[in-house]
Amino acid sequence: MLTRRAFLPLLAAPFAGAAPLAKHVVLFTSDGVRWQDLFTGIDPKLMGQKQAGMGDARALEKALWFPDPVQRREALMPFFWKTLAPTGIVLGNLRKGSSLQVSNRYRVSYPGYSEILTGRTQDDVIRGNDSIQNPTPSFLQFLKRKQNLRSEQVAVFASWDNFHYSAENKRGDLYINAGYEKSRLPADSPWTNELNTLQFDARFIEDNARHDAFTFELALEYLQKVQPEHLFLSFDETDDWAHDHRYDRVLESLQYFDRSLERLWSFLQSSPKYANSTLLVLTTDHGRGGALADFSDHGPDVAGDQQIWAAFFGPGIAGEGEAHNTAPAYQRDIAPTILQLLGFDYREYQGLQGRPISGIP
Ligand SMILES: [Zn+2]
Repeated sequence: MLTRRAFLPLLAAPFAGAAPLAKHVVLFTSDGVRWQDLFTGIDPKLMGQKQAGMGDARALEKALWFPDPVQRREALMPFFWKTLAPTGIVLGNLRKGSSLQVSNRYRVSYPGYSEILTGRTQDDVIRGNDSIQNPTPSFLQFLKRKQNLRSEQVAVFASWDNFHYSAENKRGDLYINAGYEKSRLPADSPWTNELNTLQFDARFIEDNARHDAFTFELALEYLQKVQPEHLFLSFDETDDWAHDHRYDRVLESLQYFDRSLERLWSFLQSSPKYANSTLLVLTTDHGRGGALADFSDHGPDVAGDQQIWAAFFGPGIAGEGEAHNTAPAYQRDIAPTILQLLGFDYREYQGLQGRPISGIP
């Protein structure tokens, strides 16, 4: 239970006997993933519904349906729930008294990613998904400056091209590969070269977002060969398919997210550099509606879409699995939680509004 340790005083510096600190962070998001789908698997309200694109999805339903929500979620995301979750903390199951909420008022993607990446809301500036440069350096930039790193050592791989705006306040400060874009690094990799070409051949339904598979393969190759200190990886298809009323494809995208997590985690744990020294943080930018009429949607007028989820794994995190009965936490708390887990004083990150989530660091 998270609440047990919630009253411990916050400590600015590591102390004797403290849990070991993480050295690296890998932040991995998938866009607009509902807490309902993560915690309870395939949604019975959407099954068989033509309106949700489930008219011809019998085989998928058969593979994913169990009366018990725990069995359902394990069928949908087996690696996450059976292997990863027991080793860390998963927040946001409202049914178990754990609430994690977006605090920006828009509940669309850019304000959400900005809240994750800067630990604050900027509702007067970032009012939607318009391509404007984030006025605030991200926590990734904060880390780069504190650790005196080169751009290539803090990398962002994203399916959506907007991360050139949201992830940094100064263009080129980080190594960002986002949207349909060739990756310059690793320079001598035949696989990267192949992906650089293929991503333009295999067009996705969105103009400003490529298939997640290209994002993931480019990122994994970069992680293995360039070995950055910190990585942010961002998937988009879970949101795009939902907007298209294709819940079947949302489920398949979640299955792909799970397979990607397995490959990512296996590499991290097999790497002398990253094994047992890397924090893995998973979350999403916003929720969406809970009913057949609005599961596809999100924004200020959609009820319940402020509810999100996050999961933390790695050094310093007790393996408590799914959190129960926690104090309410917010999207803006994710950045200071990461900074504290990496041993930094989050109060040095100017203008931060969030606080480390009780019981995690
Ligand atoms: Zn969306």
